[in-house]
Amino acid sequence: MEHIYAETDGQVYLVRESGVLRFPRTGEPLPFKTERQESMDFGAYRVLKVKPLLDHHPEEWLGRDAIFDRDDVDPVVKQAVYTTMIRCVSEVVLSKGARVLLVKAVRGFSKGHWNVPGGFMDYGEGPEAGVVREAEEEIGVPVALDGLLNVYVSGFPGKPSYTLGFVYQGHVLSEGFELKPDEIESAGWFTVDKGLTLTRNPFAKWGLVDFFLQSPEARRSLRVKRHGLFRDANAVVRPTVFLDRDGVINRGRPGYVRRPADFEFLPGAVEGMRRLQDAGWRLVIVTNQDATGWKLVPERQLARIHDTMVRGLRSEGVEVAEVYYCPHPLLRDCPCRKPRPGMLLAAARDFGVNPRMAWMIGDKVLDVATGRAFGCRTAWVGPRDWRARFRAEVRPWHPDVVADDLLGAAKAILRRGSAEDPRGSHDKVTA
Ligand SMILES: [Mg+2]
Repeated sequence: MEHIYAETDGQVYLVRESGVLRFPRTGEPLPFKTERQESMDFGAYRVLKVKPLLDHHPEEWLGRDAIFDRDDVDPVVKQAVYTTMIRCVSEVVLSKGARVLLVKAVRGFSKGHWNVPGGFMDYGEGPEAGVVREAEEEIGVPVALDGLLNVYVSGFPGKPSYTLGFVYQGHVLSEGFELKPDEIESAGWFTVDKGLTLTRNPFAKWGLVDFFLQSPEARRSLRVKRHGLFRDANAVVRPTVFLDRDGVINRGRPGYVRRPADFEFLPGAVEGMRRLQDAGWRLVIVTNQDATGWKLVPERQLARIHDTMVRGLRSEGVEVAEVYYCPHPLLRDCPCRKPRPGMLLAAARDFGVNPRMAWMIGDKVLDVATGRAFGCRTAWVGPRDWRARFRAEVRPWHPDVVADDLLGAAKAILRRGSAEDPRGSHDKVTA
């Protein structure tokens, strides 16, 4: 049984039972048609938010603000209406050249994690004043704002409420940091790709990507290898799917793919890519090439393998925008080796990619971690026995989709659509 929450223009539809105003429940007839919206999960009960389809403003319904003044309203109604009130945070990407300042929290939701300075806005406070106050409290030096980067909405996994985040860019006027003792344990300057792997706050991630795209120093300083499919990329933002190569597009091999003849498409891979492309998704391949790092496959040979792959796809009508690869050995501190998101950032710079309109598909836990680092949605693919082996490892990264192969992931992505939808963060998937 679900409670049905119908609201329009701030008016809420309630029914009276034994002197109490409550939501109607599933199965009870409604005097209007509805469109299903979101399901709010409160643990003990669920509330289904619906949009009533009416031809008039329902003056006779109860106004949402009046609900809190009354003692004849079911507490379920009060909790649901309260939950729809958005929380506001204001944060700032403070930069020095291509580097950004992150702080590590000792308490609160971000405990033990790095974040950009900022926090909840005080009652009645504007976002600029709020972020300056929070940042100066945290790092103990004056900050100056250089402008608004963007405004985002995000949910908390497993919670039915949402937060509106204002993210500014700015700079510090001094580096004599005095960290707030009970709140911040350290502060440091990081490249954007490194910062993205350190923070798990979606506002910080999206703000860092937007900062990166607007900062000439940050864009210039990121060097990532690519196959060379485009000459002049035009950065028009389009929904984008990042694809891992080995184990997703082609059969991974124990001794690595060393020659073009070793390259073998997996069943359903080409079909999955074609379906995504036909629905308007741009396809970008991002691959760690350990074999090149180990000098087993020289970069010229890797280029031949990628030529074979691109030709094979083209003959099936599939166009890849670019193949980015990391040719570095494991211990090199490069921005491109997944789970660092440097290849995804390079694609964002070269083509225009919005993390909120992007997916990363991969067969390894590190692929899911890379997508999460970038702030996009993720699909984890692989045969059932493969997934059983890595289920525990992948869980902390909570992939949005789990599928047997690329075709299965493509179908799931097409079902979700490309639109930015903060509600994606509420989806529960069992690996
Ligand atoms: Mg792989």
